[in-house]
Amino acid sequence: MEKREQMYEGKAKKVFATDDDSLCIVSYKDDATAFNGEKRGTIMGKGVINNRLTNRLMRLLMENGVPTHFVEELSERDTLVKRVKIVPLEVIIRNISAGSFAKRYGVEEGIVFEQPTIEFSYKNDELGDPLMNSYHALALKLATAEEIETIKAYSFKINEVLKAFLLEHGIELVDFKLEFGRLPDGTIVLADEISPDTCRFWDVETHEKLDKDRFRRDLGGVEDAYQEVMRRIIGD
Ligand code: UDP
Repeated sequence: MEKREQMYEGKAKKVFATDDDSLCIVSYKDDATAFNGEKRGTIMGKGVINNRLTNRLMRLLMENGVPTHFVEELSERDTLVKRVKIVPLEVIIRNISAGSFAKRYGVEEGIVFEQPTIEFSYKNDELGDPLMNSYHALALKLATAEEIETIKAYSFKINEVLKAFLLEHGIELVDFKLEFGRLPDGTIVLADEISPDTCRFWDVETHEKLDKDRFRRDLGGVEDAYQEVMRRIIGD
C-alpha cells in the first residue's frame, strides 16, 4: 500500500490517503508538544518507538477482544490503519494520581486508587480540550448514549489488559489517554496511539518516570526513557 495525498498533519503524526478509501497511512514524527502546543521540541527517534509500541499494544488488545483501527505496520514510522471518523472525546483512565488530577484536587502524585477513574475531555485545541462529563457529551451530540457506554466498557477493559501486560515488563501504568473512531458501519474501534506520549509509565521499583513528563518537566533523559520502554516491551 502506497501513500497518496496528505489528509492531515497533527502534532505528532501525519495521515495520508491510500488507493483504498477505507484505509489510510499514519506516519509518526519526532515532534513533541506539551501544554496545548505552547512547548515544542524534538525527541529523536520518538516516531519509530511510538509507531512500534502502539502497534504492539494494539495487537495485544485485539487478541483480548478489543477492536482497533490497526491493519499492518508498513515501516519504522508508517502504519496502515482503517479509516475512521474520530469521536471528538479524549478518554482518560487513571490508576494512580498524577498530572492534572493531582493539580486539580491538590493532592500529591503517586496515590494508588482502589478503582480506576475515567474522565472525558472535548477534543478541541482552540478550547484547550475542556473537561466534560458524559451528559455534556450527549448534549453536544458528540456521541450517542450507546457509543459512550461502549467507549467506557472498552476503556476499562483496555486498562486491565495494558496494566497486567506492562507490569510483566516492570512498568506501572499510571494513566493514559485514548481516542476512539467510527467505522463506516458505525462500529466503535480504538484509534490514535498508545505510547509514552499518551500514557504515564513509571518504573515499578524506583517509580522513575519513563514517559513524556520528562519532556514536559525538563527532567532530561527523554530519549533514554522512550528507548527504555521500547527495550522492555519489544526488545532492542
Ligand atoms: N494526555 C494526552 N493528551 C492530552 C492530555 C493528556 O495524551 O491532550 C495523557 C497524558 O500523557 C497522561 C494522561 O493523558 O498520560 C493524563 O493526563 P493529565 O490529564 O494528567 O494531563 P497533563 O498533566 O498531561 O496535562
